[in-house]
Amino acid sequence: MAVLVGVAVAVSVLFVPTSSGPIPSAPWADPAGGGCVAAPGASQRDVDQEDTPEYPWSHTAGQGITVYFETGALPPRYAGFVETAAGIWSQSPCVEAIAIDRCPAGAACSTVAVTGARSRGTDGESEGVQRDGIRVGNAITLYTGLLDDASDNGALAVVVHEMGHALGLVHRNDRDSVMNAETDDRTDPVPDAVDFYNLTAIYGAVQSEG
Ligand SMILES: [Zn+2]
Repeated sequence: MAVLVGVAVAVSVLFVPTSSGPIPSAPWADPAGGGCVAAPGASQRDVDQEDTPEYPWSHTAGQGITVYFETGALPPRYAGFVETAAGIWSQSPCVEAIAIDRCPAGAACSTVAVTGARSRGTDGESEGVQRDGIRVGNAITLYTGLLDDASDNGALAVVVHEMGHALGLVHRNDRDSVMNAETDDRTDPVPDAVDFYNLTAIYGAVQSEG
């Protein structure tokens, strides 16, 4: 879940959406020195313990994953955000995120849908489907009642956030992180080194056998 803070519906008309500027590209330091490889038993950092767990897609440690995001039902503005966010998450050596019109059969894929329904202040949701601790499906819902009034930066941050959940990331404690429970128009939509480290911890670490 991402909660857009400081944008009550009553005042959102005062926001003038900014024109699409260049997406900030924050180069990130690769903590593993390249590749989708983490130390055995590596765990995620800066985890918000209050968040509900996420689960990894089926993977072989160190080989990375391909996850599709279905954009066929989206208005162009939101399909564009998914496309941009897929490119951003694909900076991870563990993740190839691909925006696609329709989920390929049998592939790791999250649907992405918009709704005009009221959302009690939530601007996005990601709901995973798990089997035996492995993610087998995912559905992202974007609430346009709030996002239509958000800046491109703020809306992109929400899309990046929900796609982060879809990939297996939970909330961060760091208030500036795009994976914090709350994002707003000033949130940097580009994940930081910790987010990418966490993906490597999920998909690049050989789990100790028990
Ligand atoms: Zn969230």
